[in-house]
Amino acid sequence: MAEGRPLSDVASPKPEHQAGLQTQIREMAALDLEGLRPNCLVCGIRLSAAAPYLRFRVCPGCGFHYHMPARARIEALADEGSFEETSAGILPLDPLEFSASVPYKSRVLQDQTRTGLQEAAVTGTCAIGGTQAVIIVLDFGFLGGSMGLVVGEKVALALELAARKRLPAVAIITSGGARIQEGVLSLMQMAKTALAANDLHEEGLPLISVLGNPATGQVLASFGSLADIILAEPGAHIGFAPHRALHGASHEHAHDEQYAAESFFGHGQVDRIVERDKLKHELASLLEILAPEFRQEAAGKARGSRPRLNPREPWEMVQLARRPDRPRAMDYIQRMFSPFIELHGDRLYGDDPAVVTGLARLGAESVVVIAQQKSRPAQADIEPSTGAPASLPAESRGEITPEGFRKASRAVQLAARFKLPVISLIDTPGPKLGLEMEQRGLANAIAGSITSMLRARTPSISVLIGEGGSEAALAFGVADRVLMLQNAIYTPISPEDGAASEHRDPGRASDMARALKLTSLDCLRMGAIDAVVPEPPEGAHGSPEEAARLLRRTLMRELAELRETRVSSLVKRRRKKYRKIGQHVRNPQVAKEAPAPRRRTWRSGLFRRGSKTRDERPKDEPVKKVKTAGKAAKPEKGAKTPKSAPPAEAVAKPVAGPAATKPAESASKVAKRRSRLRAVLLRRRGKPATRKTEPDARDPKDRAGSPGDG
Ligand SMILES: [Zn+2]
Repeated sequence: MAEGRPLSDVASPKPEHQAGLQTQIREMAALDLEGLRPNCLVCGIRLSAAAPYLRFRVCPGCGFHYHMPARARIEALADEGSFEETSAGILPLDPLEFSASVPYKSRVLQDQTRTGLQEAAVTGTCAIGGTQAVIIVLDFGFLGGSMGLVVGEKVALALELAARKRLPAVAIITSGGARIQEGVLSLMQMAKTALAANDLHEEGLPLISVLGNPATGQVLASFGSLADIILAEPGAHIGFAPHRALHGASHEHAHDEQYAAESFFGHGQVDRIVERDKLKHELASLLEILAPEFRQEAAGKARGSRPRLNPREPWEMVQLARRPDRPRAMDYIQRMFSPFIELHGDRLYGDDPAVVTGLARLGAESVVVIAQQKSRPAQADIEPSTGAPASLPAESRGEITPEGFRKASRAVQLAARFKLPVISLIDTPGPKLGLEMEQRGLANAIAGSITSMLRARTPSISVLIGEGGSEAALAFGVADRVLMLQNAIYTPISPEDGAASEHRDPGRASDMARALKLTSLDCLRMGAIDAVVPEPPEGAHGSPEEAARLLRRTLMRELAELRETRVSSLVKRRRKKYRKIGQHVRNPQVAKEAPAPRRRTWRSGLFRRGSKTRDERPKDEPVKKVKTAGKAAKPEKGAKTPKSAPPAEAVAKPVAGPAATKPAESASKVAKRRSRLRAVLLRRRGKPATRKTEPDARDPKDRAGSPGDG
């Protein structure tokens, strides 16, 4: 909307343009505040009888969003009769006794008379679509919506009120530049409001900002940008630097589009562009998702029989997983979640369309969704021989860029802040490769995504829905529960690439598919995933509706189970789960035959491997502590030890699975034997065998640990 710039043209608070500008602001504001326009400035159609214009100040012809005064904004957003103003009695000050062409006092008086407002900010509490919230509205019509002492104070008080009353906050921002008439004191308001916004974050309460036209300068660079979710109105002029500062004193507007909300959206700075008539619904949905009363803290466990899974040939699974008509992430999202509100951008560089993030509801539970989205290729793009899409751009193939990983990290952090479970859907051939990707920080972005998923203080479930390709799959797949659709695949390398590198023959991909053990049942056996989600008999493509229903049911059941565990325990359990994959344990066979040289495992911990974790343990059962790091934990009473010993070489387990618990149980058997032996030795020396697990410093065998001991 290039023509939609006239309003932003007047947003120039630089002192050298101030006088001329104030005139323009007044002119524009007067046009919109003191009466309705007869015709559209942009397209010229008659506005005086148009309902969208009368209600929302939006031209029905061209969609231009006109200035909307603060009171009208509140009336359009708040549920009827719910608004209660706060801090209305705080009146403007003139701390510098500023006087230029027009004294500050008279300028304020003029704007007060014209707008009916005391100051540029109106704050209060209201209900938006039934959810109580604190609302802050900055009115561009009052001295350009700039932030002086009173505006800063009212914003800070409102955010503090939100924190005290545990309410979400919504800030509607139309503001340009600085309140130069209040000098450096106006600048300090940035710190004050940023402090209040950060305090709200600390409390785990959401701040949503809506950027109107214009949203620039100090307000944008303080609490405006610190919002958890940033919405913008179409065509709004956004940017730190005010419009005129960018163009100098000239009136050249050649690049106006680059400062429009749409451009900022494209550069990952804004979550969503929302038309004003849809803003209330959008805010209501967001507030509902983020509101604590809609979180399902503990749901009853859903029980049901698990259907039989028919194994298929691995290569057949690869073909199924890659079918162009296999449901994509969005096909599941649209069928499983209602509502789903997509959030965009990595806040750093861009928005990767191959990664979809958003807030959603799954049944009664609010969740954050991160998903890898392949676009469905046109029939012409499908290679007939393989049925796979050929020569598609990377984003259509679902290759993930650094922005995609960062976007996911951001969503996970958002989820953790609001204690919303994370549901991640995985379907990608891998990360997008290339020099440019390296320069944009691909490795760092992947590591960041893994870290976010590992650390998130909220339940998480990952689902492999199609291709689980390499590091890009793992970066979305570190979760409390990892599920896999029956015909999905999970592999570090494509079978074709694997065959090319191992057999020097890409044609042997089907052999490689078998060797890679990439099917859902193989992954379950290896312990790489926790459960397999059944698909309709012919595969998910046969009935996407049914596939989504089956997945939704599993997700709800898994989520209900995760909700029964404290978050701190989930995080610990998650750490443990990933730590023990391929963990080095000492050679149990050697120890059995020659117990004398005391070797220790690298592992230490409160519980023996394969034993119950703290949360699964009955409450009355005492926690057995192992005081010495580096020693095998004491076996639990009644723990079964296998009769057969595992192979003699040191065990570096590829993954921890059901089969992988054997060596550890043998290790504990050895530990038991060792402690008995030690008791005998001590008795022979006439010492009481009191310390069973602590090393005896006087015992030479205890000092003769292997060099690797910590
Ligand atoms: Zn128009």
